[in-house]
Amino acid sequence: MRPATQDFIRQIVRDDLAAGRHASIKTRFPPEPNGYLHLGHTRAIWTDFGIAAEFGGVCNLRLDDTNPAKEDPEYVAAIQDDVRWLGYEWHDLRHASDYFEVFYLAAEKLIRQGDAFVCDLTAEQVREYRGTLTEPGRNSPFRNRSVEENLDLFHRMRQGEFPDGARTLRAKIDMASGNINLRDPALYRIKHVAHQNTGDAWPIYPMYDYAHSLSDAVEGITHSLCTLEFEDHRPLYDWCVDKVDLARHPELIAPLLDKGLPFEASKPRQIEFSRLNLNYTVMSKRKLMALVNDGLVDGWDDPRMPSLQGIRRRGYTPSALKTFVQRLGLSKQNSLIDFSVLENTLREDLDAHAPRRMAVLAPLKFVLTNLDEKHEETLRFANHPKDEAQGERNIPFSRELWIERDDFAEVPPKGWKRLVPGGEVRLRGAGIVRCDEVVKDANGEIVELRGWLDPESRPGMEGADRKVKGTIHWVSARHAVPAEVRLYDRLFSVANPDSEAEGKTYRDHLNPDSRQVVRAYVEPAAADAVPEQSFQFERLGYFVADRKDHRSTTPVFNRSVTLRDTWSAKA
Ligand code: ATP
Ligand code: MG
Repeated sequence: MRPATQDFIRQIVRDDLAAGRHASIKTRFPPEPNGYLHLGHTRAIWTDFGIAAEFGGVCNLRLDDTNPAKEDPEYVAAIQDDVRWLGYEWHDLRHASDYFEVFYLAAEKLIRQGDAFVCDLTAEQVREYRGTLTEPGRNSPFRNRSVEENLDLFHRMRQGEFPDGARTLRAKIDMASGNINLRDPALYRIKHVAHQNTGDAWPIYPMYDYAHSLSDAVEGITHSLCTLEFEDHRPLYDWCVDKVDLARHPELIAPLLDKGLPFEASKPRQIEFSRLNLNYTVMSKRKLMALVNDGLVDGWDDPRMPSLQGIRRRGYTPSALKTFVQRLGLSKQNSLIDFSVLENTLREDLDAHAPRRMAVLAPLKFVLTNLDEKHEETLRFANHPKDEAQGERNIPFSRELWIERDDFAEVPPKGWKRLVPGGEVRLRGAGIVRCDEVVKDANGEIVELRGWLDPESRPGMEGADRKVKGTIHWVSARHAVPAEVRLYDRLFSVANPDSEAEGKTYRDHLNPDSRQVVRAYVEPAAADAVPEQSFQFERLGYFVADRKDHRSTTPVFNRSVTLRDTWSAKA
């Protein structure tokens, strides 16, 4: 059992429930469908869905689709897929665009209350009037339009009478506020663009703060959890919720009842936590999109991408990701996490759960001359050294084997424990062998080793425990299945690819060795893998059967992570 997680948000929820402020809690995860989810979103998903579940509440998946130009149903589908893959199920699936009619009625209410006005300033003028951090802004000359004129203009905006950018609907708050977000922020803008959910129905679209706060209120969200950059927006969030006051104005949500959507408006509370930032990667959707569009990676699900689709294909498991974010916990302090912390969590998870297999990535033939040409036997290997419940498997053994080229040295360096001419080494689970002959081609390249298997050293024999320095892995040449193995490494070769030092950008820091493809041989039980099954290839690392390309007849494996951290040594 994991210890119960403690953090400031859970404490607030606990207090709210204890004080009877809510009978039960409701959260939401609100991604904008303008790209694929990435590692950073895991923290938000774990927080939103995890807290709801821990306290017996529910969590909605809400697609925050108020910015039509960049949104696409492809992303909507991928987001659902990713949330489910992480092991979470939403209460209701909603789109912010489901509430466009409510937002519109709420805006009319704000106008009638004298809390909103139609403004004709251009974007540039609005900037000019806004003031700065040290100087107050100035009131728009359109701020004192009558309610009737505002209602009329707002209707005509909605009818599509005006071109993009000609007018905005603005909240009437305080142009002198120390918080610039409160200086009469825009609530609606004109944009004649089709929307992925509502088509051509709307030529005006609500702004983020307005739509987000009201969406939360409409859905009856009790705790609206988000990242720290929204802290300065909280006063505006509260302003929108309070001024519209959906909980006491059921007439505003009549359009939803007509659509059959259940209604339970609330006064939600926004709480911010710090973003998850990792070195050796970039996580903004915009930059990830550029990597894809410019062909620097093979799509959103390239196993080097920090997108959830990418790391899933890389062999990251939902349990490793959840352990990772749980260990980091939630705080108000922004920090940068070392990528090796993530990799170590994956190693730990796969070490505990992934069955072992043997694979040879750079094959060199080794012929055991004292075995008969037709010699063939089946050895039994444990699937996992620490987990008996995983059982055993058959491994064929015969006269000709593949071993790693790297496990043989004609002239060994100091401290070498593996095979040398005339030397002995243990073949994992099969006995002790000696190398008698090194066969070379006309160019002097080693093409084959020939040697002797000590018959007294076979498993179960008395000589099986005889001491030799090294143990190497192998596969039977006659039975091995050729496989494509993709050796992935970090996508960027520097810790901070986002730093724009010396006029460079993240594109200049791509790791040229982040993908290497080799023709390997794997034991039959590895070829039999189902897509997405993970293994430890003994002595090599953790690998996963590729989700898209793997077939038992033509196996394809991706390296998820090496056995040991090879990066901290470099740093
Ligand atoms: P990006 O900047 O990558 O485009 P975003 O914040 O615009 O990300 P959204 O789709 O709007 O992405 O995010 C949905 C939710 O996920 C938001 O609540 C946001 O705060 C949260 N989130 C996004 N990135 C991170 C991160 N790195 N760490 C924690 N939460 C995040
Ligand atoms: Mg966003």
